[in-house]
Parts: sequence; structure tokens; C-alpha cells
Amino acid sequence: MEAFQHKKKHLHCEDVDLAGIAADAGTPAYVYSRTAFVTRFRELDEVFGGIEHLICYSAKANGNLAVLQALIEAGAGIDIVSGGELYAAQRAGADPRKIVFAGVGKTTDEIERALRAGILFFTVESGPELDRIAAVAERLGVVGRFAVRVNPDVETDTHDYITTGTSRNKFGIAVDRAREVYVRAQDMPSVQAVGVHMHIGSQIMTPDPYVEAIRKIIPLVEELRKAGIALAYFDIGGGYGIRYDGERPQAAPQFADAIVPLVEPLGLTLVLEPGRYIAGNSGVLLARVEYVKRTPSKTFVIVDAAMNDLIRPALYKAVHRIVPVENSTAKTETVDVVGPVCESGDFFAKGVVLPALKEGDLVAIMSAGAYGATMGSTYNARPLPPEVLVSGRSYSVVRARQTYEQMYANNVLPSSKRVGK
Ligand SMILES: *Cc1c(COP(=O)(O)O)cnc(C)c1O
Repeated sequence: MEAFQHKKKHLHCEDVDLAGIAADAGTPAYVYSRTAFVTRFRELDEVFGGIEHLICYSAKANGNLAVLQALIEAGAGIDIVSGGELYAAQRAGADPRKIVFAGVGKTTDEIERALRAGILFFTVESGPELDRIAAVAERLGVVGRFAVRVNPDVETDTHDYITTGTSRNKFGIAVDRAREVYVRAQDMPSVQAVGVHMHIGSQIMTPDPYVEAIRKIIPLVEELRKAGIALAYFDIGGGYGIRYDGERPQAAPQFADAIVPLVEPLGLTLVLEPGRYIAGNSGVLLARVEYVKRTPSKTFVIVDAAMNDLIRPALYKAVHRIVPVENSTAKTETVDVVGPVCESGDFFAKGVVLPALKEGDLVAIMSAGAYGATMGSTYNARPLPPEVLVSGRSYSVVRARQTYEQMYANNVLPSSKRVGK
């Protein structure tokens, strides 16, 4: 299914005209296809159907409560990285026994909330973190389940900022050190080892780095079993790549064909943590052209969305296709599509060929469903844009546009209190 397609003259999300959404919700606005989210989830669920598995959708890719709810209703668990995401998962109705909690800097407060919620497991990223979880669990009189996040030291063919599974990265514990952590935990009554975890990066195009990493971790699992530490979960993380503009990621069945035969003989439940794979092509950022600025050297199309709404081009040099909402027969020209923010990094595309655009035209910045709204900020005092969820012929504004008042609600002018007399 193509979630975003031209029908008649206009680009649609499912059966809803994006021009209609722009008129109603204003621009800039994120527009998501509920069907696309759920379809991507089901595809993955199906191709891994041959093995006991649990898909924990990574909330940091797109954590809108309506999106989480749609995936939870389809059967997804949730992969969280903060207390805020725990709150969101709970608000959206997640089964706590399907929540896994990753991240190198979990605070005592976050650990306590997760233990009280009864999540499936923490991924432990360091020895001191295991001690912290054990102490909090003991105080609460509960047992903290954990999986050590192993850093398998494999290279992935992705942007340096989104590789996580090499010894240069801050994540996880080296394979040879992980064993000590498990063994030490045996003498700690308030924690229980239930699994092993890895997450090697993002936008990974082939199963090869997963295969390499899993092969490095299998001997650890077998060794632990011999030592009487029987694990139940093998969590391979997320990172499966998608198509932004011409990339050719291998399809989900190829990932399953490469990964399942490795994990199956271990008898462990496979856990997957896809984020981008489910969310990336399920959403667009809808923007309106404010000005077309022609200079002797270049033509700039200045739109009303900016890097604060979608930072990926500035942060990762990410490429997003730009598609005019209205089919146009205008002559094409080469332009830079930029936002209004006072930074040269505030661009969406450079040197792209588009039908000539004019003031008031709408464009869709494609593949913006993952790491778009969740990475948004209010830089330049620009309110967070609305998010719209389409399902078939209907749609709902599932996050309202932030108002100026809301943006400054927590600012307090000093009241000149004095300390002492
Ligand atoms: C970010 C993250 C994911 C999701 O990554 P994608 O590339 O979006 O699939 C999964 N697991 C962990 C631990 C993460 O930090």
C-alpha cells in the first residue's frame, strides 16, 4: 500500500486530500497514515511469525499517543528510553509486560517508575546501572528483570551519528565483559537476568551486521546456560533501514531469513525494536511556500516549516523527497528548499529539480514520520506543529498546534525573592 499518492490533482494521505488538511489544521503540520503504521508493523510481525517473538515499537521514532495506541492495538510492545516515554506508553495503553527500557543514563526516578509499572526488562548498559536497578528494586521489594546490552563491536554502513554498536560508542558492554555482569548478578537477589540485548545502529540496509553481531553473542548465551543462567529473550534491537530517496534496503523477509535460523536453535524469544521501519514512510511534513526568492546564483523556495520542525537534514545531512501537493505542469527549475530559521543549516533540500513553485503552494516533505515530530523544538520561538492522523477517509488532529501562551507557560519572571532577611 502507498500511503501517500496523487489522486486526481492532489497528493492524498490514504483517502484524504492534503490540501484539505492544510486548510483545516494549517501549516506546517505533520500528517500520518494510521494504516501505514499498522501495515508496517503487521508485515514485520508476519515475516517473523515462524519464531516466538515480540515486537517492541521504538517510541522515540514517533511517540504521538495516537500512533502508540494504534500500534498497541495491533499487538505491539513499546521500546522506551526515558520516564517520559514510559508515561506515554502507559497513557496509550501498553501492556507493561511488553515494555523494554534502554538507555545509558537511566535515573533513579525513571528506574523506580519502570519497576512500579512492572516492565518486561531493562537493558543494562553498565555495571553501575545494574547496581542502581538492584538497589531501587530492593527498596521497593521487587525483582528487576534485565538484559545486558552487549556492544558487539560491529561496523554498520550508516551515518556516524546513528551507529551505536562499535567500541567507539557509549552504548552497551563488550561481549567479554558482559559475562561478568551476568555472573555478578547471580548473587544479587533483587535482579534477574532474563535476556541479552543489542542495538547496533539505525538505517541499516542489509541483515549482514545483525548476523555478524548475533554470531558474536551466541557463544555468550551458550556459556551462560552452562553456568546455570538461562535466558529467555534475545533482543536484536531496531535499525532496519527504509527508503528515503532511492536507497534500496533489503526487505523484511530477507532480514528474517538471515536472523531467524541463528536465534531459533537457542530457544529464546526474539525481541525486535523497530522505529524508523514502522514510522518513517508513514508520515510527511506538510508545508506552504511563503516566498520564492530568486538570486543571480540560486532560487530559494522558502517554506513555513523549518529545522525546528524536522531537524534531520541539518543533523544528519538526511535527504527527504519534496513533493508538490498539487500536480503541476509548470516548467521545472533547480531550487533549494529552505525554512525561515536564522541558520544556514535550515534547509530541506538543496539543488533539487521541482516544477516551478509559487507563493501559497503546498509541498509535502516525505518520509518524515520517524525522528520528525519527536526531535522537534521551539527554536526561534516557533510553536510545535500539529500532528494529524489519517485513517481511510477520516482524520483527527492528534496533537494541536502549540500556542504562544503554551510555549511560554513555564517561563516565570523573577519575583526578586531575597535569601535571608
Ligand atoms: C533508537 C532505538 C531503536 C530504534 O531504532 P530505529 O533505527 O528507529 O529502528 C531501537 N532500540 C533502541 C535501544 C534504540 O535506542
